[in-house]
Amino acid sequence: TCGICVEKCPFDAIEIINLPSELDEEPVHRYGDNAFSLYGLPTPEPGNVTGILGPNGIGKSTAVHALAGEMVPNLGDHESEDDWERVLDRFRGTGLQNYLESLKEGDVTVARKPQYVDQIPNQFDGNTRELLERTDERGALDSLIDRLNIAPVMDQPIDSISGGELQRVAIAACLARDADFYFLDEITPYLDIGQRMVVARLIRELADDDAAERSMLVVEHDLAILDLLADTLHVAYGEPGAYGVITDPKSVRNGINEYLKGYLDNENMRIRPSAITFEEHAPRVSSRSETLIEYPELTKSYGDGEFELHVEAGEINRSEVLGVVGPNGIGKSTLAKLFAGSLEPDEGELDFALDIAYKPQYIEIDQPMRVDAFLSSITDEFGSSYWNTEVAQPLQLDRVMEQNLSDLSGGERQRVAIAACLSEDADLYLLDEPSAHLDVEQRVRATTAIRRYAENHDATVMVIDHDIYMIDLLADRLMVFDGEPAERGHATPPQEMREGMNEFLADLDITFRRDERTGRPRINKPGSQLDSQQKRDGEYYYST
Ligand code: ADP
Ligand code: ADP
Ligand code: MG
Repeated sequence: TCGICVEKCPFDAIEIINLPSELDEEPVHRYGDNAFSLYGLPTPEPGNVTGILGPNGIGKSTAVHALAGEMVPNLGDHESEDDWERVLDRFRGTGLQNYLESLKEGDVTVARKPQYVDQIPNQFDGNTRELLERTDERGALDSLIDRLNIAPVMDQPIDSISGGELQRVAIAACLARDADFYFLDEITPYLDIGQRMVVARLIRELADDDAAERSMLVVEHDLAILDLLADTLHVAYGEPGAYGVITDPKSVRNGINEYLKGYLDNENMRIRPSAITFEEHAPRVSSRSETLIEYPELTKSYGDGEFELHVEAGEINRSEVLGVVGPNGIGKSTLAKLFAGSLEPDEGELDFALDIAYKPQYIEIDQPMRVDAFLSSITDEFGSSYWNTEVAQPLQLDRVMEQNLSDLSGGERQRVAIAACLSEDADLYLLDEPSAHLDVEQRVRATTAIRRYAENHDATVMVIDHDIYMIDLLADRLMVFDGEPAERGHATPPQEMREGMNEFLADLDITFRRDERTGRPRINKPGSQLDSQQKRDGEYYYST
């Protein structure tokens, strides 16, 4: 062991090249004897958007509590009295000195968007209008309501609106305030790509208002959005729940590339055994010619035609991973339910005799049952070395096996639900938004598990998701939805990735390029030369 974690190596017993130098020092904060310790703090800078990238449980919120002045860091001595002078001494001569001085003088105001918006209804009784009214400190609320498309739910009780609506309301409530320091703990959960772009722009504009000297700090797991939004990036690493290290700021590009590579250059530190790579994987040719499902044109409407879905006829190949993309409220989950057989189409017939495993978007597994009991009730393979390697390990289930389903956090619940779906013996696996609530590492592990599972089982998988990185890593072909959200939706037949991405992104008016060094997709700055060039060429996604 390296001396920090005596019991279990956080890096799954990989070779640790060397210790981060921060760990030679005392931590910035330690919650108690043998409790979580935080090393390093992010540096908010006026006029900048500072990103933090790292797993959950690594100390990001702890760092924010400190920077927001909600807690005086104890510098490792949890029995010490609160003492800002000591903290100032420690950070003298660093980029944080000025900030901490004004914090000590009480000159700093803070606005914060909490991570779990689902909990807001437990804390607030009233409608959207009442919640937002109190936050209008800059006179910007009307414009935020307009750009975040909140008007339709202004008079609805907070406990009746959807996750995506709640997320936009919470972001509006934070950005409407007049603060020096804004902290946004995840901005993308439940939002589609268009909505993510709007939020990124709003945050950017606040930072760019020079007169106000605002600092924006954003924790985010959607790498494409983080890349577009942030000026600098702190990577957080360590062992979740035990200790966390926040690096010095890096350029966003280097920060993300080093993070993906699993090796931090300046720190000379390996944080993961292997790199996360993006390749334009060739479609798996093995059995591509074989068709699993041929489905006719389908329609489905709700109520008195309040929403109408029209699906063009198409076919799904055996053992392909089909990505499904489109805005919120356009009918993606409705299609999943039609395939899963829990809804009947109005026109067209789905009469295939296939076994289908379905992970719905909103996971309701609140049975009073332990995770291990639940999973072993689904598959006889439970606990076999094969199942452990292919399912349990990549989804990091060992830590939750003995917990009750009802006690799981959002990310834990998601991983158990993905495992449950993959553990079924089925012809078609339908996964509706598997990336929700997962951090980057977990998304990549889940992606690998799904893809490897599909390959090894010759299984056919349909994945609905808003995370372009996940879709890029997973999908062989793409089904694209367009239309008018909440009114009508239209789905194309499955198409090649290139065509599909072009069609999807043209609708959104966003272009991507690939990072030269790592091949990862990056959003072009709107209006940049590349952006204009690719739009002229009709190449929204692949430019080579
Ligand atoms: P992140 O924001 O990166 O998910 P947090 O800063 O919320 O991480 O938490 C880091 C670790 O510190 C977690 O293991 C958490 O349980 C622990 N922790 C957070 N707050 C407290 C507290 N008040 N007392 C003891 N431990 C805490
Ligand atoms: P997506 O998965 O693309 O976000 P959905 O298929 O969930 O979209 O929903 C499409 C539209 O149909 C939305 O406007 C939604 O509010 C509406 N809708 C979904 N389910 C029902 C239902 N059971 N009754 C009435 N309207 C519904
Ligand atoms: Mg947190």
